[in-house]
Amino acid sequence: MKNSVMFFAVLVSNVMLLVSACGNESNLSPSTTSSLPTTNSTTSSTGSSSTTTTTANALTSLEIFKKVYGATEVYIEGNYAIIKANGLPDHKSPYYKDTQWATAKYEAYNGANNKFALNPNRIVSQSYVFKIPINPAKASNSSATPAGPIGISLNGVPFYNQYAAMNAPLTNEANGFDQYKGHPQQQGQYHYHVEPTYLTDQKGKDALLGFLLDGFPVYGPLEKGKTVTNSDLDGYHGHSHATTEYPNGIYHYHITDADPYINGNGFYGTAGTVSK
Ligand SMILES: [Zn+2]
Ligand SMILES: [Zn+2]
Repeated sequence: MKNSVMFFAVLVSNVMLLVSACGNESNLSPSTTSSLPTTNSTTSSTGSSSTTTTTANALTSLEIFKKVYGATEVYIEGNYAIIKANGLPDHKSPYYKDTQWATAKYEAYNGANNKFALNPNRIVSQSYVFKIPINPAKASNSSATPAGPIGISLNGVPFYNQYAAMNAPLTNEANGFDQYKGHPQQQGQYHYHVEPTYLTDQKGKDALLGFLLDGFPVYGPLEKGKTVTNSDLDGYHGHSHATTEYPNGIYHYHITDADPYINGNGFYGTAGTVSK
């Protein structure tokens, strides 16, 4: 044990030398620090422990929100994660037809819905700025989810709530969902109201899939090998326990295969903001 501590101490000092030698601290320091979280606590007796602890906590939040791999930028500002995204899905879609990305990303509908009908909208690049609390807390008065983005999924595509325009059910709109279960609205904002199947295929049905605006994470429809149903969840469409990303436990939403799919009666926590 003592040897490994020594090893880490040597490693740390070597890394520090590298950092100063390269003079490129802004690129190197985040990954350097984040790859050595245990070292921070192990070597805290050598000094500046309070500073390193603060950095480690901030990086933990940053690392979690950086799971949004489709974001163009993710950083922490005060008590918020700022996530910028263009909202372009990283998978193919029939809604890339006639767009500047069509050559690489257009794919005709090949899903299972024989009522599928391509809607007249096409995917347009957006300038989303999500401001999401990094220490989410239950709201004393929960607020309804708005029309438009209510959260962001890992590939940078927004989640929408369980309603079509004018709070109508999704029944008709769902026939416009492409083979990855998303579609664009009139301004070309591509979005998911239901399970983003490209992400669950890539990451697993039980994976972290994104965050709602209140900072609480969204997980897939499987948990410990069992499919989650609406009856397993509270009115907001979530429950609390430890997850891979939050080993100390956290409230989280689950996506299910039945209405309301992602969120129920509004945000469990106090929502941040999104501008576009
Ligand atoms: Zn929609
Ligand atoms: Zn759960």
